[in-house]
Order: sequence, then C-alpha cells, then structure tokens
Amino acid sequence: MKYKKLNVLPEFGTNTYLLWDELSKEALYIDCAACHPLLLSTVRDLGLTLKYLVNTHGHGDHIAGNELVKKEFNPLLAIHREDADMLVSAEANLSVFWGERVISPAADILLEDNDVLKLGSQEILVLHTPGHSPGSISLLVAGLLFSGDTLFNESVGRTDLPGGDFDQLLRSIRHKLFSLPDETLVLPGHDRKTTIGDEKMGNPFVGILATI
Ligand SMILES: [Zn+2]
Ligand SMILES: [Zn+2]
Repeated sequence: MKYKKLNVLPEFGTNTYLLWDELSKEALYIDCAACHPLLLSTVRDLGLTLKYLVNTHGHGDHIAGNELVKKEFNPLLAIHREDADMLVSAEANLSVFWGERVISPAADILLEDNDVLKLGSQEILVLHTPGHSPGSISLLVAGLLFSGDTLFNESVGRTDLPGGDFDQLLRSIRHKLFSLPDETLVLPGHDRKTTIGDEKMGNPFVGILATI
C-alpha cells in the first residue's frame, strides 16, 4: 500500500492523504481539505482510479474538497453515520464560524465500527474513535493508522467543539488505538506523523506519564 500526503489547506494545516494499492491502482482519499486542483492532478498523474473518498469526521476543514473530487472522479463518499449530517450543513460542520459555507455532497456510504473498505485485495479497517466528534473514525491498513483529529503527535483532538467529549476521546485512544502494535505508523489529520509506541510513552494527554 502506498500513500502520499497533500497540504491543500495551509491555513488550517489539515492533512489530506491519498492511499492506493499498487497492483490494482485503486485509490482512496482521506479528508479532501479544500477545493484545490492538486487533488485532481495527483490522482491523474499517478494513473489511479479513485474508488473512495473517506472523511475521518465532518468538520469543514476536512471536507471542503469533497464536491470538487466527487464531481471529477465520482468516488463513493464515506463518513461515519454519526457525522453524516455535518456534510450538508455549514452550521454543523462549523465552516460558518470562519466565514465560509462549506457544503459537501451527501454520503454514499454510512460507516460503522469495524467496517472494511477494499482497494484491490487490500483491506482497510474502520475504527470508530469518537470524542473529537461523535462520528470520528480512524482507518487502519498495513501498519498505517490514519487517525484524523483523534490522536496527534504529542497531542489529541480538541473536545470543546459541539459534540466533543474528552472522556470518550481518552477511551477511544487508550482502548482502541493503544491496543495496536507499537510500531504502527500514525498519520494524523494535522501536523507530523508519529507511532503508537511513541504516543503511549510521550503523549502528555494519554501517554503513560499522563496517568502519573
Ligand atoms: Zn476536526
Ligand atoms: Zn481538523
């Protein structure tokens, strides 16, 4: 499995990831953050077939490129059931608060915990990791964890926004993500990559030292 990180929304530092299976050339976007032509040219230049567009959650800075990409490649748009309404409401996805009205096409697939998406013969596991938002998910494939705004390098997602819940976020990370192997590479929705092992040790919110 190959992936590429794109930064099409530098104001928010949101990470967009393109993930693809080399054999079948089937691809999946994670969080198309802005309406940016690079989202189209990258898929074309690599000769990929975009099968899915998955949103880790419904906040405006993770979904603003959905319409552009959906129009061009018509991938199946997938988001967890509990964040699906945020796609089509600029109030619910919070974009009105920074003076935009981000509206995405509606979801084609409503995801649940433990759902599996396939690219060629490779399986991508959906983990429901609520806390930053009710429908936040992480995606696990071949030793890679795309953690959205749930787990960051030495930080965690904020929980002061509507639908946020700090205790739920801690449970999602400690019970689900920290049960993965230490060497799992974590590719978050903002900022730099890390590993499960490094966050278990050093994360000031959920790591070992946080409980002392
Ligand atoms: Zn968010
Ligand atoms: Zn975010």
